Amino acid sequence: MNILVINAGSSSLKYQLIEISKEEVLAKGLVERIGIEGSMLTHTAKGKEKLEIKEPMKDHKEAMGHVLHALTDKQFGIISDMSEINAVGHRVLHAAEKFSDSVIINDEVIAAIKECIKFGPLHNPANLMGIEACMATMPDTPMVAVFDTAFHQTMPKKAYLYGLSYDAYTEHGIRRYGFHGTSHKYVSQRLPKLLGKDKKDLKIITCHLGNGSSLAAVDGGKCVDTTMGLTPLAGVVMGTRCGDIDPAIVPHLMKEMNLNSEQMSDYMNKKCGVLGISGISSDFRDLDKASVEGNQRAKIAIEIFCYGVKKYIGAYAAAMGGVDAIVFTAGIGENNGALRAACVEGLEYMGVKMDEELNKNRGEMRISAADSKVEIWCVPTNEELMIAIDTFELCK
Ligand code: ADP
Repeated sequence: MNILVINAGSSSLKYQLIEISKEEVLAKGLVERIGIEGSMLTHTAKGKEKLEIKEPMKDHKEAMGHVLHALTDKQFGIISDMSEINAVGHRVLHAAEKFSDSVIINDEVIAAIKECIKFGPLHNPANLMGIEACMATMPDTPMVAVFDTAFHQTMPKKAYLYGLSYDAYTEHGIRRYGFHGTSHKYVSQRLPKLLGKDKKDLKIITCHLGNGSSLAAVDGGKCVDTTMGLTPLAGVVMGTRCGDIDPAIVPHLMKEMNLNSEQMSDYMNKKCGVLGISGISSDFRDLDKASVEGNQRAKIAIEIFCYGVKKYIGAYAAAMGGVDAIVFTAGIGENNGALRAACVEGLEYMGVKMDEELNKNRGEMRISAADSKVEIWCVPTNEELMIAIDTFELCK
């Protein structure tokens, strides 16, 4: 069975065609600059040459037309016609409390995604454009929505309610929802397989550390807490996002810097985090380099990040009454051994001990010392595969 996985942004559309029985990527690609000058499709199918198409694409529907063309092209494609796409899985940001799992898309689901635009004003409309484009180009193919928030719906009330008046929750839906759910779900399901254990018997802390970063406490396969909140702005300090701050800072800085609410939101999302602290870059490769060269602000930015991750590891071990495994994933978690080490440095007292040599490697691997009570692993995330698996389960 072939599953087409779609991740639509406001002006981009990423896709992968996955053969599910072998979990094999048959083709993948990216359409950029949809609706703006310089639209471009880059497509690669297994065993074929890379295809690049530079043509105006005024909307996601036109972009999808090009994607389907590329997938079925004799020279660059991998399937002979559209009927070989058995189902489509869409990444969708926010489902609030409406869905705790992936769902087959129907009118009700579309209405729910629209209702959640207030919580995901940039992503949900873009995700909908992707869904509508696929529905227009593949009207008979079943489609599934896979939500970034769904995996975290198992959190108990004590973890998801804020200390606001109760009607902020009941009237306005203000609560912790959490994000990167598809990634946390993938790595927390993958690790038990690698350990040869049942997920029900494990307490895992998953650390998705990338441009956006979040941690989750996963007890017995279920998320019991996570660092992001109503939106992906909360939690640890990120590339450009501030993470957790004293809420009183918001009105204070709005007054001091003469910002309206949109400008303030833009500031906290795009100009803060390690970029704002260092004044150099949001990318940890740049910060590592600057720090080695003696830049003190780059050094403190890295320290703040690692300290934040470490504090949450401690908090989640406390929340679960212990921890069996810590998993690192995403751009930093998969590639930056020095940062991984810094995030668990000093946690030997709770049985967390890194193997320095193993931690120099990359890929899916154990990185804890043989005598570490807690397993530490690096597990490259695969959100596309997780979306394909969920889609298959609902459409088989
Ligand atoms: P996003 O959240 O945008 O998907 P990523 O998961 O790609 O972001 O994470 C981006 C971060 O990962 C950057 O700070 C970068 O320094 C780091 N990173 C990505 N690839 C590598 C690599 N090959 N080596 C070291 N660091 C990397």
